[in-house]
Parts: sequence; structure tokens; C-alpha cells
Amino acid sequence: KAKELGKNRHVFFDRSMDELVRRKMMTERDLREAIPNGELRLSYQPFIETATGRVSGLEALLRWQRPDRIVMPGEFVKIAEETGLIVPIGDWVFRNACSFAAAMRRQGAGHPVVSVNLSVVQLIRGDFVDWVREVIGATGVDPRDVAFEITESVLMDNFEANIDKLAEIRRFGVRIYLDDFGTGYSSLKYLRQLPVDIIKIDKSFVDDLNDIDGQREIIGSIISLAHRARLQVVAEGVETEGQLAKLIKYKCDFVQGFYYSRPVAQQDVPGLLLRLGEREGK
Ligand code: C2E
Ligand code: MG
Ligand code: MG
Ligand code: MG
Repeated sequence: KAKELGKNRHVFFDRSMDELVRRKMMTERDLREAIPNGELRLSYQPFIETATGRVSGLEALLRWQRPDRIVMPGEFVKIAEETGLIVPIGDWVFRNACSFAAAMRRQGAGHPVVSVNLSVVQLIRGDFVDWVREVIGATGVDPRDVAFEITESVLMDNFEANIDKLAEIRRFGVRIYLDDFGTGYSSLKYLRQLPVDIIKIDKSFVDDLNDIDGQREIIGSIISLAHRARLQVVAEGVETEGQLAKLIKYKCDFVQGFYYSRPVAQQDVPGLLLRLGEREGK
């Protein structure tokens, strides 16, 4: 009996693995068609300067509009990276974000810096710097109006080469943000050497601000350290007024999160900027 059970379990395991591989292959096949089929979208989420209430930045977040549902990046970015599809997808993202930033500047409706998330797969390519230059030229965007969000993992392998590339595009005026800060290998001691303008402190540290006795509030120390390295700080995933109040107390420069706005479709950005502009100074 036990033997039979074990055997069944084995069969079950094989089937579920098989199912996983099959689903991955189907996702890959469909993802390959996503660009030609016009199924990719960008949502934009603002980040707000705590001192002024102004919208300083807009983060572009990728969505895959399939015929039946919207697929979130958590479900396909990893597959896109593993298959190399992140290269054409990332090209689409950056090109669209640059065009949008250029259009906002032309319309004179303020010009928040538009940031896109960059995969290490894109950064390690030999043509990365030329690619950035080409897209900026083709879209006519002011390079100071765009930024790349990189994670600490980008700084682990090929550290020197990656740093050099980031420093080079930063010389064009493109900004670099260090995303999900605090979740990877601590680069606090490298902060000063990094070609980075802003660090985005991971949501988990903001969540700790709900802690009643304040035992876990290490975000204040991270902010001080960043400021000492002459970096500005965004807190991500701010959902409540209480978190916001504490972040202001800790002199956090910018906040981003559902408290102000969820990511919105591109066509809703002007309305969003208007709405947030109206509450400025309040
Ligand atoms: P991320 O860059 O750290 O983006 C923040 C994520 O947190 C977004 O999820 C955003 O919708 C969500 N978020 C923002 N504020 C709040 C909040 O107050 N509460 C909660 N619970 N969540 C909040 P999303 O859009 O699902 O993206 C997930 C991740 O996928 C991103 O994390 C980023 O690493 C990756 N990603 C998104 N777009 C792209 C892209 O174009 N290229 C690449 N390579 N990765 C992307
Ligand atoms: Mg990001
Ligand atoms: Mg982030
Ligand atoms: Mg994150």
C-alpha cells in the first residue's frame, strides 16, 4: 500500500512538473507574439516629493493585455528574461516611456522624470549604451527626463562593467535609481561609489512602520545613510497616512504607493497629475 502511495506521488510530481513546463512554453509562445499583436501596455505610478507635494516622477510598469485578462509582470518578466524576450520587450518599454516623456515636455504639463525598470539581461549586452543613445535620439526625449531602475543584483555580477555602463549613460543625463533597496546584498558601503541618483527603499521596510512599538523601524537609519552619501530616497509601497507621517518625520524625500495612487493607464496620467496637483500644499 505504502509503495503504491509512493508511486502515485511520483506520478503526481512528474505530472505537475510537466504541467509547469507546458505552461511556461505556452507563455513563451504567446509572449513572443505580444509585441506584434500590440498587447503590451504601460501603467504609470507617480512618486511625490514630501516637501512640496509635487509629482517628481512616474514609474512605467509593464502590463500584458491578453484577450481574456491582464497579466502582471510577476507572471512573465522572469520567463522573458530566461528566453531573452526581455530584450525586445525592454526596447518597447523604454521607447514608449521616452516618447511619453517627450510628449509631456512638449505639452508643457510639467515634466516628471519617467523611469523604467531595467533587467540585468539588458544591461550586460554589448550594445547597451548604444541602444540607450539610439532610443533617446529617435524619440527626441530630453535624457534628463528619463531614468532606469536597477536592482542590487545588477551590481553583483560584472560589477565593474555594469558600473561603467551606468556611469556612461548617466553622463548623457539619464538618471539611475537603485530599486528594492535593502532586499539584496547590502550595498550600503558602496553607495557613495555607485553611479546612482536615488535609492528606492523596498516596501518591506515601509510595512515595518506599522509596527506598534517601532522596534523594526530601521528605515530612518537607511534614509540618514543615504543622505550622507548625497543620495535622495524614495519609499515604495506607502499605503497609509500613518506611514506617510513617519516617513516625513524621517525626512524621506519622496513617497510612492497606493496611498497617493495606484499605477494608472497612460491616458489617465494627465488627469492624475491634475488631481495630485490640486492637493499640493495641503
Ligand atoms: P518594482 O519596480 O519594485 O515596482 C513596484 C511594484 O509594487 C509594482 O508592481 C507596483 O504596482 C507595486 N506597488 C506600488 N505601490 C504599492 C503599494 O502601495 N502597495 C502594494 N501592495 N504594491 C504597490 P507590478 O507593477 O506588479 O511590478 C512588479 C515588478 O515587476 C516591479 O517591481 C519590477 O521589478 C517588475 N517590472 C515591472 N515592469 C517592468 C518592466 O518594464 N521591465 C522589467 N524588467 N521589469 C518590470
Ligand atoms: Mg521599480
Ligand atoms: Mg521597487
Ligand atoms: Mg519592489
